[in-house]
Amino acid sequence: MVSNNYDIETLAGEIEQILAEQPHVANLLKAFGPMFLEKSRWLMDVQNYTKTFPVDEVQYLGGIPLIQQCQLFLPDDPWKSAGLSVAEAIRQGLPHFAGDMAGLTRQIAEGTVDCFTLVNSSTAPEESQLADRAQTFEIEPMALQLFLRFLTRFMLSKRAQDMAAELAPLTWNKGYCPVCGSFPQLAIIKEQGQRWLQCGDCSHEWKFPRLTCPYCDHEDPENTNYLFVEGKKEDTAFTCSKCRKYLITSNRSANLQQAHAGLIALSLAHLDLILQDKGFLPMAECEWNSFGASSGG
Ligand SMILES: [Zn+2]
Ligand SMILES: [Zn+2]
Repeated sequence: MVSNNYDIETLAGEIEQILAEQPHVANLLKAFGPMFLEKSRWLMDVQNYTKTFPVDEVQYLGGIPLIQQCQLFLPDDPWKSAGLSVAEAIRQGLPHFAGDMAGLTRQIAEGTVDCFTLVNSSTAPEESQLADRAQTFEIEPMALQLFLRFLTRFMLSKRAQDMAAELAPLTWNKGYCPVCGSFPQLAIIKEQGQRWLQCGDCSHEWKFPRLTCPYCDHEDPENTNYLFVEGKKEDTAFTCSKCRKYLITSNRSANLQQAHAGLIALSLAHLDLILQDKGFLPMAECEWNSFGASSGG
């Protein structure tokens, strides 16, 4: 069974180890490592609160993700603790937003900011709306945008975790996430060479055929569509000749230890540079692969 509950100390140790061994991702790790830790800690804290939804199996088999089948976010969800946790992670990782996060933390704690309302009124807000809202809270629009993005991911991850047992026996044939509909951020090759796609938004993982492009369903068994980069043989990238997207792929079949997908993806950020240099685009954009827009290294 898939679980997002990583032992916090193990995760902290892995972050320290990557910091020591891969100085080229140190800036990214310092920026987003606190987010991984806070999310794991928060998911542990709220593990006794669970909400599941009935899945329409016909729709599901037809490729309709949960997020389009029902209202995934509920007012009763632990929004306050999630908001405080996200603000704390941003404060630690991105010190230039520390002042903004202190202000937001105070308003969440006092109850003047309700995170459920904030997220639900802010799905893909216009730039001007975001700026107005940020002004109300007396914080930078960039800080608010980052806060909302991570808060959404925290709650999506919670929902994916709640629903994991219900989804496990069902068939999902698509390259996008059955929970939140996002394209994968990473693929992990596990036992028997099975490819597991990893959602960067809700942390759900699902099995997908190894030679098929998750983005456009193009199947190309003739070509070797895995790009191997010098150095570590277990880290590669799937590339699609049709849609020109790539998917960073890590082979963990020899190492059965549970791995934190976000941490693996971040530690392979140098591959994103190589692939984008070759003219490919990521299937899912994130903080460290949308160059020019990222705040890390
Ligand atoms: Zn997802
Ligand atoms: Zn493709």
